[in-house]
Amino acid sequence: MPFTPDELKKLITEAMQEERRIRIATWEERRAKIPAYYAAHRKERQAHQRAYNVAHREEQRAYRVAHPEKFREHGHRRRARLRSQFVAPVDAAAIYRRDRGRCHICGKHVRQVDASMDHLIPISLGGPHAPWNVALTHLRCNLRRSNTGPAQLLLAF
Ligand SMILES: [Zn+2]
Repeated sequence: MPFTPDELKKLITEAMQEERRIRIATWEERRAKIPAYYAAHRKERQAHQRAYNVAHREEQRAYRVAHPEKFREHGHRRRARLRSQFVAPVDAAAIYRRDRGRCHICGKHVRQVDASMDHLIPISLGGPHAPWNVALTHLRCNLRRSNTGPAQLLLAF
């Protein structure tokens, strides 16, 4: 064997560090190519995703039922990403604490099971999915309100 285990370990570590350095150095350049890649491979990516979803339907359903807030967060991020808008992690529990458990539409207390988040500037109107663009609401208040409802008025204060 040409290398001792220690030498081998050192070589692997160095290779990993080098790879990491390159990944960081080329990130901007690679990121710029992502939209073109998605556009060029749209059909096959969709087909792949559909096949995956069919194969994992039950697991996915169980996950959605067990983690409704994560599922909603996923949807928000996806919609914002598709519009090339800013996306930042939004932690539902942190928003709940920050807004002191009050619905920003009706002003009443929100039980955690009824909690929903509203985008102050709707994603459909170019708003970012980020903590400073969401507010705690009742699920029912959020569903009732349209994109031009009270949230836009509240924003003016
Ligand atoms: Zn409410």
